[in-house]
Amino acid sequence: MTYTDKQLTAVCAQLVHRLYNNTCAYPGCLVTGEMCQIAHIMGKGAYVHWRWAICNQLVLCHVHHNWYDGRAGSKLQAQATRELRKAHGFLFAECDKLKRTTPEPWTPAAKRAKLAQLRQALEQVTK
Ligand SMILES: [Zn+2]
Repeated sequence: MTYTDKQLTAVCAQLVHRLYNNTCAYPGCLVTGEMCQIAHIMGKGAYVHWRWAICNQLVLCHVHHNWYDGRAGSKLQAQATRELRKAHGFLFAECDKLKRTTPEPWTPAAKRAKLAQLRQALEQVTK
């Protein structure tokens, strides 16, 4: 990852944590703070281009992140996907739309523009 990639990832994380009040987005889960992390609706591996799309990110606690990513077995993964889709359907719908589009390449200029846009959004939500 380049320096700009790291900055993009860091600003995204700050913004998304803020948007979720640093609380796990799993329905009924009240875990906050250090136990929470950024989860990607569309996996970073298969959908690397969308890793900085805000609609592709959720705050999940360690346990629910493991469930969603399938590290706790396919049964819990299916449950987590169902529950998160029910609770955050609009995000999943946006991600489904993105999957059908052809992404613009990440040129250095495009990354800088995205970074400026995200920083502005972060400034707005932290006011
Ligand atoms: Zn949780």
